[in-house]
Amino acid sequence: AHGAPGIGPAAPQGAIPPPPQGAISPPPYYQPQGDEVALFEQCHERKLAVMLKGPTGCGKTRFVEFMAWKLGRPLVTVSCHDDLTTSDLVGRFLIEGGNTVWQDGPLTRAVRSGAICYLDEVVEARQDTVVVLHPLTDHRRILPIDKTGETIEAAPGFQLVISYNPGYQRMLKDLKPSTRQRFVGFDFDFPRPEREMAIVAHEGGVAQALAHELVTLAGRLRQLHDRGLAEVPSTRLLVAAARLIASGIHPHQACYAAIVAPLSDDGALTGAMDDLIRASF
Ligand code: ADP
Repeated sequence: AHGAPGIGPAAPQGAIPPPPQGAISPPPYYQPQGDEVALFEQCHERKLAVMLKGPTGCGKTRFVEFMAWKLGRPLVTVSCHDDLTTSDLVGRFLIEGGNTVWQDGPLTRAVRSGAICYLDEVVEARQDTVVVLHPLTDHRRILPIDKTGETIEAAPGFQLVISYNPGYQRMLKDLKPSTRQRFVGFDFDFPRPEREMAIVAHEGGVAQALAHELVTLAGRLRQLHDRGLAEVPSTRLLVAAARLIASGIHPHQACYAAIVAPLSDDGALTGAMDDLIRASF
């Protein structure tokens, strides 16, 4: 849900600062899908790590941003990828003006400061990287840092949250049972139509009627999954189409650019999607 990580020492991405004490910062806009807010609060209270499962673009990241706001915790987000090393998460020694200095990685910073640490698309990370999370997910709540010999106890409020998309064709890539069983699982899916309409209208800046048309179209496009469309249009893509339409792009062109082109290169599938768009707009 975030862009590629930067080069060099991993920096937290999309981190939002904690709401200042006493100040009223507006909550991130989040439409709940069910009772996930109450369940997450209980997990946080009971120091349980959380795994968010669901297709890309269905609101997992927004949910974590909302929960961090609601719980008054800082949020540290890391987009995982297959080059991500333990050092990227935990930290590394850097040479600074001839001196060797230790620099905490995003996970270590979250552990020290009692932040919510969100590892997006964790299945992309290598197994040996994921193993460093294990002692943080049980009663010990510790992070051993081999390179410094230090063992840090997680500050109160620290919580580990991971996300992954079980739909990907990932061959051998999956989370090990020994890792999975350390997390409470939340199942996410695309929001129900009336919720998705509200999201598209709010996030896309369009009228309810147009949001309704886009969500109805999405329902038809998602049925193409049975005809071989591997990834179906997400809420994120609908929001992108809505934004283009709101900026004056013709709805047909906006839907093609924001929804069809990102999803497939297969002529038969893009043609079928185009037909459905033409029938709507
Ligand atoms: P994921 O993390 O599952 O890939 P995101 O949380 O980044 O997806 O959602 C993509 C976009 O879709 C968000 O930026 C937001 O505009 C919109 N969105 C999806 N679901 C919701 C929701 N339940 N409430 C508010 N916005 C949502």
